[in-house]
Amino acid sequence: MEEFDIIIVGASFAGLAVASELKSNVLLLDRKDIGTNVTSACGTIVKFVESIRLEKSILQTFDAATLHTAKNKIHHIPLADEFCTIDYSIFCNQFFKQSDAEFRKENVSGLKEGAIITDKRKYKAKIYVDCSGWSAILASSIDKRFVDKKKLSVAIETEIPYKDNKLRFFVDEKIIENGMGWLFPAGENSRLGVGSYGKNPRLMQSLKNFVSSYGLKLNGAHGNYIPHYLRKPTIDNIFVVGDAAGNVLPLTVEGIRPAIRAGKYCGRIAQQIIEGKISLEEGSRRYSYFCLKNKKYYDYLLKAQRRMSHSPNWKLNFVTKFLSMKPIAKWALKKYEAI
Ligand SMILES: Cc1cc2nc3c(=O)[nH]c(=O)nc-3n(C[C@H](O)[C@H](O)[C@H](O)COP(=O)(O)OP(=O)(O)OC[C@H]3O[C@@H](n4cnc5c(N)ncnc54)[C@H](O)[C@@H]3O)c2cc1C
Repeated sequence: MEEFDIIIVGASFAGLAVASELKSNVLLLDRKDIGTNVTSACGTIVKFVESIRLEKSILQTFDAATLHTAKNKIHHIPLADEFCTIDYSIFCNQFFKQSDAEFRKENVSGLKEGAIITDKRKYKAKIYVDCSGWSAILASSIDKRFVDKKKLSVAIETEIPYKDNKLRFFVDEKIIENGMGWLFPAGENSRLGVGSYGKNPRLMQSLKNFVSSYGLKLNGAHGNYIPHYLRKPTIDNIFVVGDAAGNVLPLTVEGIRPAIRAGKYCGRIAQQIIEGKISLEEGSRRYSYFCLKNKKYYDYLLKAQRRMSHSPNWKLNFVTKFLSMKPIAKWALKKYEAI
């Protein structure tokens, strides 16, 4: 059986971030080729993309967002920092170039007797990193209750030829119940999506209606489940990162920055463990602290998510009007970005 220092499962935002910090003998596994499995609107903060030297992936930038609520009420929200949409393929492939990891396209079924089982073979490693997204394939093969399916949001979107210059969010039951719709322009195209903070059998129909309200037709669709609660960051020698660890901000469903930040931290910790500078126990302790230190803010956002879904429109408009005032918007968004 082949052995590596570290094996990472999942080569998206979290997995590539972990790999970018490692100098060891690393295997990176994903069932899809790197940069081909986009599930996201890929919106994030410009200066964050620049900080990881991936600005070539930026397609369009924005300095304000627009929130649409019921009965065509529109609120313009100034952003604290410029936002952008990125090209997933360019982002992932450039990110992969920042690592020395070996990539193999294999489907992982889990861990058994200390080894990773894939559709092709078995592998062993000193450290495993689970970056497989909401299903947390490694962690859930060890602990069957690791994924709580009652605590998942779900979102889908389509990318269509449509130009706009505004980042738009929609909180309107006529578009999507218990959730949010969005239109993220990305150069020549726009990403139109709907997400629900819970099960929603009508999600695809809601997306079709939303797209047709622009006089457009669906151009395929992609999406995913999204955990809206923090999970255990480590189990034995498994580090869990990104969506697998529930590291997605509730309400906004922003998961790219949290996945990359935790991934980079995890990579640095794992490297120190391999070099014998810290023990596995100490590394697990530090990584768990890093992931859970902002739990109270995740809880606040989860409360806001629940409240927003059940608030009457007048209340939503009132709160949004208040939050749209320039100094308040900048202050609140700075706080949010620091989580
Ligand atoms: C429709 C939608 C829109 C979104 N828009 C935004 C946005 O605009 N901004 C933002 O910040 N966040 C957004 N999010 C959230 C964001 O996409 C996720 O938080 C982010 O992708 C998490 O990254 P990750 O690397 O942890 O997991 P993922 O991106 O889910 O990657 C998991 C990887 O693991 C691989 N994998 C899974 N299982 C296996 C297996 N068994 N064997 C091998 N490989 C496996 C997958 O192929 C995939 O490459 C959105 C989510 C959705 C669903």
